[in-house]
Amino acid sequence: MCFSSGMGATDAVMKLLKPGDEVISGDDLYGGTYRMFTKVFANYGIKFHFINLTDANNISKYINSNTKLIWVETPTNPTMQIVDIKACSAIAKKNNCILAVDNTFASPYLQNPMDLGADIVMHSVTKYLGGHSDVVMGALCMSDDSLYERLAFIHNSCGATPGPMDSFLVLRGIKTLHLRMERHCFNGKQIAAFLRRSSKNRKSLLLGFEDHPNHHIAKMQMRDFGGMISFDLKSHSQEEAFKLASSVKVFSLAESLGGVESLVNHPASMTHASVPVAERVRVGVTDSLLRLSVGVEDIDDLIADLKQAIG
Ligand SMILES: *Cc1c(COP(=O)(O)O)cnc(C)c1O
Repeated sequence: MCFSSGMGATDAVMKLLKPGDEVISGDDLYGGTYRMFTKVFANYGIKFHFINLTDANNISKYINSNTKLIWVETPTNPTMQIVDIKACSAIAKKNNCILAVDNTFASPYLQNPMDLGADIVMHSVTKYLGGHSDVVMGALCMSDDSLYERLAFIHNSCGATPGPMDSFLVLRGIKTLHLRMERHCFNGKQIAAFLRRSSKNRKSLLLGFEDHPNHHIAKMQMRDFGGMISFDLKSHSQEEAFKLASSVKVFSLAESLGGVESLVNHPASMTHASVPVAERVRVGVTDSLLRLSVGVEDIDDLIADLKQAIG
């Protein structure tokens, strides 16, 4: 089911709920999702619990008969936490609630949450599926007929439907999804390795994948690790982060992700500016954290660019 934006798709899922219902969600969420939950749907009497989902057992402490939805993002944006989808699904099924997974970062090429027990898969099609940073769209996938009918009613009633030009652009983008993802993964690995090497000398700390605490879960539920990389500067200096982000030439300083062009983003002042400071710092979105959306350019150009920017 396609929507005029990723947020339009998420909005439709939230409209399955009614006042008094509770939602359990990760504590490192896409900033816009956090804003929608806390600033829009909280006003409609829906209660949210933002918890650490890197251990799915944490859900048990918050789940009760009012819990109707578990909202999972994995890998998370921007701290690249990994959440065990299968484990969340077992808990959701036992407690009769819906498990929805925002699969934007992995794309369907790298991860298929429905095969792992998710009831709803949400995509910001704007990102990898579109792939060219020139279209905004969202999608929901589900396999249960009655859930489909409830969502189709909301979809038809509430108006977040995509236009024909957007649909054309997305269909064009999807044709190369497999090729782009392979290159995103290849380039991502090289850059992760480069950042790790430079960390010894350059005071940078990699939040990428290889020695990641939930690496074994990532390996189990993903085909590869994608092109999203976050790293923190050991100096903790926002100024140094700004300087790095503005001295790259091949990477563009911009929000969004998943397009063919490489982007650098400073989450604290850009994508996650609407998350309260204490909240974001607690999950690792520090003032010196930078997020890369590694594109499909020549890897030597990308690494040379980072090299000259890190100095
Ligand atoms: C971009 C994004 C969204 C929102 O999608 P839009 O298409 O921009 O509305 C939701 N979740 C994640 C993880 C995203 O990166």
